[in-house]
Amino acid sequence: MITGQPALALFHTDESISHPATACSCLPLSSRTNSDLNNGLDCRCKQLTYPDDLPQISVVFIFVNEALSVILRSVHSVVNHTPAHLLKEIILVDDNSDSVELKFNLDHYVNKRYPGLVKIVRNSKREGLIRARIHGWNAATAPVVGFFDAHVEFNTGWAEPILTRVKEDHTRIILPAIDNIKYNTFEVQQYANAAHGYNWGLWCMYIIPPQDWLDRGDETAPIRTPAMIGCSFVVDREYFGEIGLLDPGMEVYGGENIELGMRVWQCGGSMEVLPCARVAHIERTKKPYNNDIDYYAKRNALRAAEVWMDEFKSHVYMAWNIPMNNPGVDFGDVSERVALRKKMNCRSFRWYLEHVYPEMRIYNNTITYGEVRNSKASGYCLDQGSEEDDRAILYPCHGMSSQLARYTTEGLLQLGPLGSTTFLPDTKCLVDDGRGRTPSLKKCDVVTRSSQRLWDFTQNGPIISRDTGRCLEVEMSKDANFGLRLVVQRCSGQKWMIRNWIKHPRH
Ligand code: UDP
Ligand code: MN
Repeated sequence: MITGQPALALFHTDESISHPATACSCLPLSSRTNSDLNNGLDCRCKQLTYPDDLPQISVVFIFVNEALSVILRSVHSVVNHTPAHLLKEIILVDDNSDSVELKFNLDHYVNKRYPGLVKIVRNSKREGLIRARIHGWNAATAPVVGFFDAHVEFNTGWAEPILTRVKEDHTRIILPAIDNIKYNTFEVQQYANAAHGYNWGLWCMYIIPPQDWLDRGDETAPIRTPAMIGCSFVVDREYFGEIGLLDPGMEVYGGENIELGMRVWQCGGSMEVLPCARVAHIERTKKPYNNDIDYYAKRNALRAAEVWMDEFKSHVYMAWNIPMNNPGVDFGDVSERVALRKKMNCRSFRWYLEHVYPEMRIYNNTITYGEVRNSKASGYCLDQGSEEDDRAILYPCHGMSSQLARYTTEGLLQLGPLGSTTFLPDTKCLVDDGRGRTPSLKKCDVVTRSSQRLWDFTQNGPIISRDTGRCLEVEMSKDANFGLRLVVQRCSGQKWMIRNWIKHPRH
């Protein structure tokens, strides 16, 4: 039997490597700080009991250039907080780290401390987190496998509720509830119980649990979730193989966490968060590997879109502001994944949205999207400007979310990042309220007369208010920013172009 040892509290953060916001670092709904992960557990969790004959688990940690102390902390934590008879093995997957301390020192330490318990898999080239996890799965032998980043800490009793849910139904993918370990103090900050959703760029975000879970008032009950944050999930080993693991054509980072959610639901399984199983994860601000995470997240998102999202795949292209024809992003070959979907006879994305992610806003009425340019002001684009003042402006084109417009079949002209769930405000509408010459940006449903938010537009033609008949135009003016002012005025023949368009089937 493995004896419990107090977890090492070795502090190590590498300040020298930089990185933007991340999957496991999604915005929490709310949080509170505890010195100890177990203090944050709902007391009702401690009253629950579990069967004695639970399946064993293999715990896979993947890492690249992680601090040795942090990896060891994760290993100690899982050993100390999992009943020894349930923990079959720990698999450490080194995704071709450069750091020498992660070679001999790591092997030596874990083999001495936990003889026979730890397997180390070394990738001979950098595979990215998706294939690194697949390598871990290949080495796993227990009936259930858990996948974790190598910078986590487990609460006491994390494994029993998870193994119980998997034993009851092997098509459930189980996510522990995630808490934060502050990277600079290692203090645990407990997050509110949440489901794991995402926006149309397929970036994850925590969302409020489904209404029926809230109505039930039981903080220990599983929370249905459309997808996962990704740093921590547990699945029946054979079932995971049957449904196609993670998409091995995805590179480096991102998107795999959302794709697995779509796939498991569409193909007859489910995904849930268990509030009584808590894993705390270090949210770091800098990543010790590839700097171009956004590119890979976009590329991987397109793979998920092409395979799983049917007529809704346009939303991913819109969110990233890339054309659907010739997107200029090489997302590789998805034919094997499409064949897998067919073989498993999976449901449509529409079914998934209706039943699993009803909170998501749908934008199937889009005709054109992207930057809006005027023939009189080359290099300048329509821009939502400062979010406070509700005034659209002209600004040098950069194609990022403040310049992302959508023109819809109804005649709405929306400006700003594509909306996501109904928990968050929707993109605002450009409005001509007939007063003055300045168009405004308003919530689409709060205009006085609905026609004030409607415009006539065809590519390379004028943008005409259906309410006033005035045109959206550019006026040269010395006192305006960049010498250009956006106005609504009597039409003088100015023409506009919106960068990308979606072909609609004829009705
Ligand atoms: N990772 C990997 N290979 C890569 C990139 C990442 O094995 O090329 C691992 C990384 O070591 C970590 C996990 O993937 O264990 C998730 O990455 P990270 O923790 O940086 O993402 P975050 O949790 O911040 O979203
Ligand atoms: Mn992580």
